[in-house]
Amino acid sequence: MVARNLEFCRNAIERAAVGAGRDPFGITLVGVTKGIELPLIFEAIDSGLKHIGENRIQEALLKFEPVNAYAKSKGRRIIWHMIGHLQTNKAKDAVRLFELIHSVDSLRLAQEIDREAKKVSKVQDILLEVKTSPETTKFGFPPDEALYAAREILSFRNINVKGLMTIAPAVSDPEQARPYFSRLKSLLDELNRLRISGFGFRILSMGMTGDFEIAIQEGATMVRVGRGIFGERNK
Ligand SMILES: *Cc1c(COP(=O)(O)O)cnc(C)c1O
Repeated sequence: MVARNLEFCRNAIERAAVGAGRDPFGITLVGVTKGIELPLIFEAIDSGLKHIGENRIQEALLKFEPVNAYAKSKGRRIIWHMIGHLQTNKAKDAVRLFELIHSVDSLRLAQEIDREAKKVSKVQDILLEVKTSPETTKFGFPPDEALYAAREILSFRNINVKGLMTIAPAVSDPEQARPYFSRLKSLLDELNRLRISGFGFRILSMGMTGDFEIAIQEGATMVRVGRGIFGERNK
């Protein structure tokens, strides 16, 4: 089932990209494995899944080694993404486990990540989470504060801000999520116009099972898909 879902999902990503005049290779699929047992994750790896997203440190700690060992036995390597809210006291684990932390939502957290990354001589790639909708999502910088935060964090030497992430509110019609995605894209464009990073901010992490096609139309470079690959979760 996972193999078929993954193929379905990849095809949908490709269709959405081509339909929007974009290169499908510019879009990274992150398989979200929260609440998913190891055998299903292994199936996804067998079908070529490379990017794995988890939203809780405790759960990621349990999966990290067996999943990496499995991938390694197949001659492959997993790239881990932290996509859930991160408490500052978990920054150390996050820096150890994840290649990209999507959910940096405060300067205090960024500071803590910077400090922990410095200890292990890592430059941690992060995204700033932006609260594009006032109503539903709890975490993230308000859009007007994201610019200020990006500028501040640029002075942190052990953090590399690669772009922005948002979670659109759950809506019945995915079309209704479009304004939140276009808002994030505008914000990224604005950041890049200000040229506060010499490298540019390139990653736009937006779109989940219900709305990733719309997100791609609006410029997503990373989509985070759980149910669409692994089926409904129990929790
Ligand atoms: C769970 C989760 C997803 C995936 O959601 P699905 O609806 O299962 O695709 C994506 N992003 C974040 C931050 C999540 O917590």
